[in-house]
Amino acid sequence: MRGLLTFAALVLTVSTKETFEGHQVLRITPKDDIQLLLVKYLETMTELELDFWQGATDVSLPVDVRVPFHSLQAVKVYLETQSIQYHIMIKDLQAVLEEEQQQMESVRFAQPSNTDAFDYANYHTLSEIYSFQDMLVAENPKLVSKLVIGQSYEGRALNVLKFSTGGTNRPAIWIDTGIHSREWVTQASGTWFAKKIVKDYGTDPALTAILDKMDIFLEIVTNPDGFQFTHTSNRLWRKTRKPNRGSNCIGVDPNRNWAVGFGGPGTSRDPCSDIYPGPRANSESEVKAIVDFVRSHRNIKAFISIHSYSQLLMYPYGYTRTPAKDEDELRRLAKKATDALASLFGTRYRYGSIIRTIYQASGGSIDWAYDQGIKYSYTFELRDTGFSGFMLPAQQIIPTAEETWLALRAIMEHTNRNPC
Ligand SMILES: [Zn+2]
Repeated sequence: MRGLLTFAALVLTVSTKETFEGHQVLRITPKDDIQLLLVKYLETMTELELDFWQGATDVSLPVDVRVPFHSLQAVKVYLETQSIQYHIMIKDLQAVLEEEQQQMESVRFAQPSNTDAFDYANYHTLSEIYSFQDMLVAENPKLVSKLVIGQSYEGRALNVLKFSTGGTNRPAIWIDTGIHSREWVTQASGTWFAKKIVKDYGTDPALTAILDKMDIFLEIVTNPDGFQFTHTSNRLWRKTRKPNRGSNCIGVDPNRNWAVGFGGPGTSRDPCSDIYPGPRANSESEVKAIVDFVRSHRNIKAFISIHSYSQLLMYPYGYTRTPAKDEDELRRLAKKATDALASLFGTRYRYGSIIRTIYQASGGSIDWAYDQGIKYSYTFELRDTGFSGFMLPAQQIIPTAEETWLALRAIMEHTNRNPC
């Protein structure tokens, strides 16, 4: 009986999880504007149920798209008929997902009892990251505290780690990871950064100088409902989990939901779209919580939002072609930061304003932060450049975090030296 029940529970668990049997990810490289338009046209064909990992924006940039089995032949025939080049980036998506899942489960024998025993080289569930945060605070009460800045739509705590060596109302750095839930390497890197800050304070002169004058706020799981959903139901979920009135589709793109050029180019009015900005700016409690937090901490000097993938470091603007008034300084610092990043393993990043580096996108967090007067507003797109995409193998977590840390530290150092 017990065995039967276990079996039934297993079937139930398995059946609620979306599978990607037969799905492939294609990398399409349009060679001119006509081909670009033809690829863009695919985005309008909703019955194909395509999931654009990188949308069609410019002939210089490849388009990555997850194609369900039922649409594969149609899409391939379409591309071949138009002589549009493509290659198969991920041949068997379900196999890659299962491998990732097995790797996670293979090391989950016991929960670590302290943050030294935490497995930084693996992906973790929401509850594991939340208990990691609590352990880190308990182990370092003089340096780290946990602030709850709000609640997600489904009622989860929005936790922010505060690293501070004292003082009140110090200038501060804001860092968030995981606002797009499927970008797993970002939450994993955020976890590693938290431990790194604790380890390096007092030993690394650069970080020590930063923390002696400034606080660091780090929100590791910025979209907890979405992140939970990537573990339980759909690994490739990007948005929040709030239902949309008048639609069966769930969720809002939390990086199109900010009060800056809201609903403009680079968003979609379709609630089923992955770039749906929501009914109004700040409609998502996950966004509103940060907005309120930043507004009540007028001393935030740098706002860094971390995504994946593409290997980019970008600064405002995304919603307008008008250059940011500090563009020269932001560009010089981006060069310095990406040079520092590359110095470890040679990983190359491109940098520039969002609109000129990838595409026009409205309602994004760093544009909003910059317009609040936070000069050092940056967004990262971490590894890779299109081999694994969102399914970055776990063995790349630590190298990714390590190299990214050098860029972050360069930005924080500069911010610390240039009080404004
Ligand atoms: Zn993202």
